[in-house]
Amino acid sequence: MTRKYNFSAGPATLPLDVLKQAQAEMLDWNGTGVSVMEMSHRSKEFIEIAATAEFDLRELMAIPNNYKVLFLQGGAHSQFAAIPLNLLRGKKTADYLDTGIWSRKAITEASRYCNVNIVSSSAESNFKTIEAVSDWHTNSDAAYLHYVYNETIGGLELSQEPQISNAVPLVADMSSTILSRPIDVSKYAMIYAGAQKNIGPAGLTIVIVREDLLGDTVESTPTMLDYAVHAETGSMYNTPATYAWYLSGLVFKWIKKQGGLAAMAEINQRKSQKLYNLIDVSGFYNNDVDKQFRSWMNIPFNLPAESMNELFLNEATKNNLVALKGHKSVGGMRASIYNAMPEEGVDALLKMMTDFEQDYG
Ligand SMILES: *Cc1c(COP(=O)(O)O)cnc(C)c1O
Repeated sequence: MTRKYNFSAGPATLPLDVLKQAQAEMLDWNGTGVSVMEMSHRSKEFIEIAATAEFDLRELMAIPNNYKVLFLQGGAHSQFAAIPLNLLRGKKTADYLDTGIWSRKAITEASRYCNVNIVSSSAESNFKTIEAVSDWHTNSDAAYLHYVYNETIGGLELSQEPQISNAVPLVADMSSTILSRPIDVSKYAMIYAGAQKNIGPAGLTIVIVREDLLGDTVESTPTMLDYAVHAETGSMYNTPATYAWYLSGLVFKWIKKQGGLAAMAEINQRKSQKLYNLIDVSGFYNNDVDKQFRSWMNIPFNLPAESMNELFLNEATKNNLVALKGHKSVGGMRASIYNAMPEEGVDALLKMMTDFEQDYG
């Protein structure tokens, strides 16, 4: 068996050590004689697995005690609706930053429930830069300000929390960046992330929400989208994604072993810098995202002509480098280099890209 270096944007590569542990525990978890997949979510064994995962995530991210951590389903897409339903709290308007495709999906969904005020849009720059916060058109009566920390498709990232003077609650989609570096959770009203990029398998969605914001939902809110219900029931109002929860817990332990989020940040910055350096120096590859807003996690790049894409992908596959094809909406290539992508994987990509440029440049 050859494990490939998998640059998929999501579901994405997982740490090999985690997969091996899951494999070893697959048929018999901890002497119980059953797989985690086969356990009741109400059993004391699973409740222990669930509580340990939450404990480790809280410790990793230094989540303050006045925040609830919810382990939900429905992906980030469900949150696009749940956010206005839970966080409008009697208000009629919400502020949204538009930095790309995921911002726009969130905006479209929120528009069903409230007036969306776009504080700033990156459309004019073709999503290559983000306007200075001081130029944003914020609405002082907005219920919250939503932004996408890292646009997974465009590779555009806003890594500084926007300092908004009117202190509107800050909500961030961190699907493709959570756990990539330390984050000051206390600056946010809510953080959410689908697990399948930088946490674990698909099927789990993490919501971290300040508890004083709960319990004032829009009247028609479906029970399954009500954060207060999930908070009161320990995310077990219905059957949660038990196996994804367990596996994510193994990933949290793995990150702790790597040295936590500060250590991850150092590695992630180094990995992304290597790749950007090669792209910038080459004159063959191109990434035209404004340097101060370049993503650490998803690095799109173009070859001199779209017609070379297939050749590049074939060469990559021969070198055991897979899933590098860019999103159909932007073309080119995209290397997603989440926590679980080892630095050797990035080095192997760099070597292949250098060779390719020599052969075809
Ligand atoms: C992948 C992604 C989503 C969508 O996640 P689903 O779990 O498929 O709903 C939303 N936002 C961002 C930033 C993403 O990367």
